[in-house]
Amino acid sequence: MPNKEMLLVPGPTPVVDSIYEAMAKETWGHTDPRFAHIFKRAIESTKEMLKTDGDVFIVAGSGTLAMEMALVNTVAAGEKLLVISHGYFGDRFIKLGQAYGIDIDVLQSEWGKQVSPEAVEKKLAGANYKAVTITHADTSTGVAADLDTLLPIIKKHGALVILDGVCATGAMEEDMSKSYGGPDDKIDVVLTGSQKAIGVPPGLAIVAFNQSALAAREKLAKVPAYYCDIYNWLPIMADPTKYFATPPVNMIYGYAEGIRLVLEEGMEKRYARHKAYGKAVRAALTAYGMKPLAEEKAAAATLSCILYPDGIKDSEFRSKLASKGVVVAGALAYLSGKAFRIGHMGNTTKDMLEEAIKLIGETLIDLGHPANIEKALTLFAEHFSTSVR
Ligand SMILES: *Cc1c(COP(=O)(O)O)cnc(C)c1O
Repeated sequence: MPNKEMLLVPGPTPVVDSIYEAMAKETWGHTDPRFAHIFKRAIESTKEMLKTDGDVFIVAGSGTLAMEMALVNTVAAGEKLLVISHGYFGDRFIKLGQAYGIDIDVLQSEWGKQVSPEAVEKKLAGANYKAVTITHADTSTGVAADLDTLLPIIKKHGALVILDGVCATGAMEEDMSKSYGGPDDKIDVVLTGSQKAIGVPPGLAIVAFNQSALAAREKLAKVPAYYCDIYNWLPIMADPTKYFATPPVNMIYGYAEGIRLVLEEGMEKRYARHKAYGKAVRAALTAYGMKPLAEEKAAAATLSCILYPDGIKDSEFRSKLASKGVVVAGALAYLSGKAFRIGHMGNTTKDMLEEAIKLIGETLIDLGHPANIEKALTLFAEHFSTSVR
């Protein structure tokens, strides 16, 4: 493995050799039929992963561009959008929507908790929203949205559901064929990036529109965007030998391999594996006096935000841990310095996580804090095995 470090920040995530090898292949012309064939396969595989009968768009960019594509093609200036936010990335839809003159309402949870379904119901009853954004796993707090509860409520009011899956797609259930209530009550748009739960380096924005979302685009006629306008990309996604703007050829090679690995493992297995990772990592770290920010029932499968025990300095902890080969991320906003974030998704393995738990314990001991590594590893194993069927 060319990886010298264990990259456990919540994106980018560990990349495996076969993806690096795919990316290192000779760059073909972007409309070369040999490249178009690989690109087409990546598009079809993405549809298969999300079980959508709509269209998928894969373009050069990051997750934020995917958020922008999702919004600008469905909601017009002056139309109402409800943002359900469980942290920093949920809040990102506020600024983004404002930049396009969209009329925004927000429901923000206390960090670590979920927005209450009653609050969502009340908001939706009080106004006519074109769409609602949900962040599947908010990477700032490690809080996941409960789609099974939220979708039926939103759909009863007829709004489009835009799901930010940047830290979830490929690891937490996002099934665009699933009905949440009536037969047409489905997730309308899923957006994501290549570098988180899919496990490919950063560089691709990925968005899927179902038929209702495509109909919303059609109704808008014109959108205030050019690169972001899905109508400029539709012909290319149908036939990648056509040109609109140059796709990142080697990134697509890597993504095609990454998505192949996702489908080879199978979605049900991936959902179960990530659930087990989340439960096991959080349980293990409690042995060190650390506390997950999110309530366990609301905790994401893909990453955790962990509060430090008293007396641990964030910068010291993370640099010492990094010197042992494990890279984790600091916390955002008011939690900065008080917590760290650890990703457990994509190509990350159980062995890697066990090793990380051990090294976190050693780091705490180095910093003069007691840590029962054996107990942490026992808790890891127990919670891992009870959560994998
Ligand atoms: C990382 C992330 C984003 C932003 O993605 P970028 O690739 O950094 O632009 C948006 N939403 C969520 C939930 C994320 O985790």
